[in-house]
Amino acid sequence: MRIAVAGAGLSGLSLCHALQEKLEATGRHAQIALFESEGRTGGKVQSIKDDGYLVEWGPNGFLNNKPDTLELCRKLGIDDLMLPSNDAARKRYIYAGGELHRLPESPPSFLKSRLLPWSAKFRLMGELFIPPAPPDNDQTLAEFARRRLGPMALERLIGPMASGVFGGDPETMSLKSCFPRIHELEQEYGGLFRAMIMLANKKRKEKKAGGEASGPAGPGGILTSFEGGLEVLTRALQAAFKGDLLLDCPVTKVEAKPGGGFIIHAGASGTPVEADVFITAAPSYAASKFLAPVAPAIPDTLDKIPYAPMAIVCFGLTEDDLGVELDGFGFLVGLKERRKVLGTLWDSSIFPGRAPVGKCSLRSMAGGGRDIETPYLPEEDIARIVKNDLKDIMGLHTEPEFVKVFRHEQAIPQYIVGHSRNLERLDGMEAKYPGLFFAGNAYRGVGINDCVREAYRVAEKVLGGK
Ligand SMILES: Cc1cc2nc3c(=O)[nH]c(=O)nc-3n(C[C@H](O)[C@H](O)[C@H](O)COP(=O)(O)OP(=O)(O)OC[C@H]3O[C@@H](n4cnc5c(N)ncnc54)[C@H](O)[C@@H]3O)c2cc1C
Repeated sequence: MRIAVAGAGLSGLSLCHALQEKLEATGRHAQIALFESEGRTGGKVQSIKDDGYLVEWGPNGFLNNKPDTLELCRKLGIDDLMLPSNDAARKRYIYAGGELHRLPESPPSFLKSRLLPWSAKFRLMGELFIPPAPPDNDQTLAEFARRRLGPMALERLIGPMASGVFGGDPETMSLKSCFPRIHELEQEYGGLFRAMIMLANKKRKEKKAGGEASGPAGPGGILTSFEGGLEVLTRALQAAFKGDLLLDCPVTKVEAKPGGGFIIHAGASGTPVEADVFITAAPSYAASKFLAPVAPAIPDTLDKIPYAPMAIVCFGLTEDDLGVELDGFGFLVGLKERRKVLGTLWDSSIFPGRAPVGKCSLRSMAGGGRDIETPYLPEEDIARIVKNDLKDIMGLHTEPEFVKVFRHEQAIPQYIVGHSRNLERLDGMEAKYPGLFFAGNAYRGVGINDCVREAYRVAEKVLGGK
């Protein structure tokens, strides 16, 4: 069997690893060709060392509360290189009402916190009495948050979370596609507080019965990376790949052969390649172009998945340059603060070794679904805008000695309302064109764990039962 994969980001590389693993386990053979448009693998994952600083171009790490990436690291033999974030990084802050508030972690700290005024706290606790949305709803994250938790919780809790994970606009993001677990909890238990109470009871009973308590209900986990940055993972995946890796070789056109299989045009050579299976792990906007000859319905669907632009600004400085102590993970910004910065990670407080001794590093995000202009400004303007915001928020009062700006014009795919229907249509395309598969972060999760889990799911679909 000949398998062609487009895109050697984390998804494409993990997919090839999963395919190899399954082939080896079942004693089968397939020839795998991995096409990548750039001269390197890793896609959004890139760790850059410069001037004694270690900065990430894209993702910073993955959460260790899901088994997917941990298990992959174990298989690759890089689990002993994993680096959990510092304990101090559990403290997270929200910038709201012109000041930094520590995100409450317990009911007493929630009651004491000034992040939400009393009226908003009462409104939030009233969640217990709000009925669930109808089962087949596709509500926006903002509708969900406003209805269940109140407008202030949307502004100061849920909205910042949407920026932190998706760089997204809660007014367009689909709850069930972006945060499926929250959607499930509302449907299964009737609400979030009910879910928390019932899941805590279930755990207590499981423990009492001497069994193993089921895993945590909500988000959480410890952000994890590697001493050399997240690229250690994609480099290890590349090293473990045994097929043909074709760098600087973008897929330009895919045609379906009348009797089954595909003809793939890639790179400058112009010689088409045939394959029985074609899997796209490239961004959906790229797949939309090269898969158009297979069926016009494919671009019609893929073009409905927008991407938000994002600028990442990394500053290196000394803690004396700041008016706050870097004793946590960093902060996210409330929706009504009129700031360009969506949030700032206190990078050198999260992971050791990110800045030279005596120095610290900050990593700020700007842009996203609610501000599609800032990431397109000249780099020095973006750096200046971020510096001004950090002056007000963190008391930054000197020029950082190290400045790096990374621009992602199409950073993160946005799962807007209607996304689940797009997935159904793509499932229909896979059924209509046997051997065609869609993988990557545009469909069923944008986090590192999601990309790895999805890669294994697609590999199972490709080889399962054959
Ligand atoms: C700024 C930023 C910060 C993030 N932070 C985090 C984080 O801290 N934690 C987390 O879990 N997630 C984070 N994410 C999300 C996560 O990084 C991504 O979802 C994930 O890396 C995407 O991997 P992918 O392989 O699906 O896509 P990509 O990394 O986009 O890879 C797609 C690949 O396809 C290639 N390609 C494009 N066109 C073609 C073509 N025509 N032919 C062949 N190849 C092609 C591209 O060059 C690329 O290598 C972040 C994302 C961004 C942008």
